[in-house]
Amino acid sequence: MKSRTGRQRSITVMLSSFILCGMLLSACQDGSSANESQNPSTAGNTQQESDGTTIHFTDDTGTDGSTPNEGQDTPATDSGEDTDNGSDAASEGENQGSSADGNEGTADDPVMQERSVSALQNTIDSQSVVTNAEAMTVIVNKQRSLPEGYEPSDLVEPNVKFSFDEPHEKRHMRKEAAGALEELFAGAKADGIELRAVSGYRSYQRQVSIYNNNVKTKGEAYASRVSAVPGRSEHQTGLAIDVSSPSVGNVLEEVFGSSKEGQWLDEHAAEYGYVIRYPEGEEDVTGYVYEPWHIRYVGKELAQDIVKSGLTLEEYFDEANIKL
Ligand SMILES: [Zn+2]
Repeated sequence: MKSRTGRQRSITVMLSSFILCGMLLSACQDGSSANESQNPSTAGNTQQESDGTTIHFTDDTGTDGSTPNEGQDTPATDSGEDTDNGSDAASEGENQGSSADGNEGTADDPVMQERSVSALQNTIDSQSVVTNAEAMTVIVNKQRSLPEGYEPSDLVEPNVKFSFDEPHEKRHMRKEAAGALEELFAGAKADGIELRAVSGYRSYQRQVSIYNNNVKTKGEAYASRVSAVPGRSEHQTGLAIDVSSPSVGNVLEEVFGSSKEGQWLDEHAAEYGYVIRYPEGEEDVTGYVYEPWHIRYVGKELAQDIVKSGLTLEEYFDEANIKL
């Protein structure tokens, strides 16, 4: 018999032994003493109760860690030190509903499965508020907002070089994205490429400040061109980060795209689960001009599939294109 682990399983094995022994032999206690020693009290009780209905091997599912996205369903909870916008939790419940439920399935094509689950219909239609805020594939843009006051539940600080030294919320990202960013920076370094992280997570409240400040100093029309309306910044998802390089003074400008570091990022980001979110010439679709510095985590399989498709995230998750 194969070795089996788990308390439940050893109990059912033991019960089977007992019942078989009881049916076939008049005395069988000796044969099951090994199991009894693990669980003597339980053994005594359940033996009396066994009526044949428990003679099943219950498969323990999902314990092998093969579903990294399971954590997405966790509703936003108090995440402590680096949050300053926790006052409005009104929309929190909506995050739990449809987020990535399908990820647990075992479709033939897991990439297509995930792509379909996270398609663009995941909004509350009248307000275009996303209902899958915690999903690695959530799409936030000028038409699609996060729930008001949303903050990710698993923000951590990636161990990479930043362009500044002081503590700040923008040093944070969601845990899975942060781990991938560490790998990306290590990969760059191995290729002789020096990157710097410039700006990651941005809270709703800070986006309010940035936006209002732009409105005050430059007018609303200008503000909406250069900064996202609060709730519609991808940085608030904790899955996006701006990256630059000392070779261009760590600026977030187009010049980074033509530097060797920017080109390395463009070529290799997908290997680490990131895509260049706002590609050149796609402003009509993404709502933003070319930003070679802004990368967005979606997971390795999807990132590589997205690059292969040549589509923007908006197009990639558009139902019409999924059916291609
Ligand atoms: Zn950005």
